[in-house]
Amino acid sequence: YHAKQDRHAVRRFHADLSASALERMELEQALRVALDREEFCLHYQPIVDAATGEVRALEALVRWQHPQLGLVPPGRFIPLMEGTDLIVPLGAWVLREAARQLQVWRRNRPELRVSVNVAPRQLAQPEFAEVVRGVLAEFGLDPQALMLEVTEGAVFGGTGGDDNAERVAGLGLPLALDDFGSGYSSISRLHRLPAQWLKIDRSLIEDQDAPPPARSSRPIVRALITFAHEAGVQVVAEGVERPEQWRDLREWGCDLIQGFYVSRPAAPDDLVWGPFGPGTSGQAD
Ligand code: C2E
Ligand code: MG
Ligand code: MG
Ligand code: MG
Repeated sequence: YHAKQDRHAVRRFHADLSASALERMELEQALRVALDREEFCLHYQPIVDAATGEVRALEALVRWQHPQLGLVPPGRFIPLMEGTDLIVPLGAWVLREAARQLQVWRRNRPELRVSVNVAPRQLAQPEFAEVVRGVLAEFGLDPQALMLEVTEGAVFGGTGGDDNAERVAGLGLPLALDDFGSGYSSISRLHRLPAQWLKIDRSLIEDQDAPPPARSSRPIVRALITFAHEAGVQVVAEGVERPEQWRDLREWGCDLIQGFYVSRPAAPDDLVWGPFGPGTSGQAD
């Protein structure tokens, strides 16, 4: 086990699996060691009320704190872990760490929520419900305090079909449908997922004010907001980077805002708590 090997493995690994089998094996081995040593940490990104700019929730985003390489972003290792059973222990660690941190924050902010990303393979585990219940009990948290971010594929894609959706909803935790609009999203089955939040993917938010000749995604974003509200679901806009985007989204009735314009993900001690706004100064960027 060598740091130099890790460096090569992490650099060369791409989500498109263009890395060689050997490179993937090296990275997988390094990640097993990292799990043993608890080299992961969570950063948190505020999700704020579109109207008031107050922090409603924080999304927990995992990073690999490598002793030599520094902070490795999840895009470099989550895809590989999702393809192996490694995502299961990592996912359990993320849930527990997020709950531990939330318990501390809740002493001063009793309404605060943390949302945690859950991988398809994790959801498919029969033990997943036990893990969730155990974590809530350990930290004395209300099920409403933790949200699970799931993708369409995780809920509808498995062999279990609708079973997965019902099982996940049965946990009693609020759900957020993540990255909506990033792939072949289907409105036709959206109503079957009892999600509290619909998170519109950054790619759609990015294009909402695209200058000509690019085609604006504005009509789709507006329609999604209307659709979600009809279904009793709140809308989160992901990847808001400019104040104009926030102002437009607010005008269209979008409920919640997340993105670099509000705040980049940060370590707990570095978090800025707002309130934020599209017109005020003194915030990130
Ligand atoms: P995601 O769940 O869609 O998380 C949002 C990602 O978008 C984060 O990237 C965040 O830093 C980034 N982002 C937020 N606002 C902006 C913005 O305004 N502009 C741009 N360009 N990017 C923005 P990050 O932290 O690198 O995470 C990437 C993905 O890795 C996540 O996408 C999620 O799918 C996955 N991931 C992260 N943590 C976990 C985890 O604990 N478990 C699992 N299974 N997946 C995770
Ligand atoms: Mg997410
Ligand atoms: Mg997302
Ligand atoms: Mg996304």
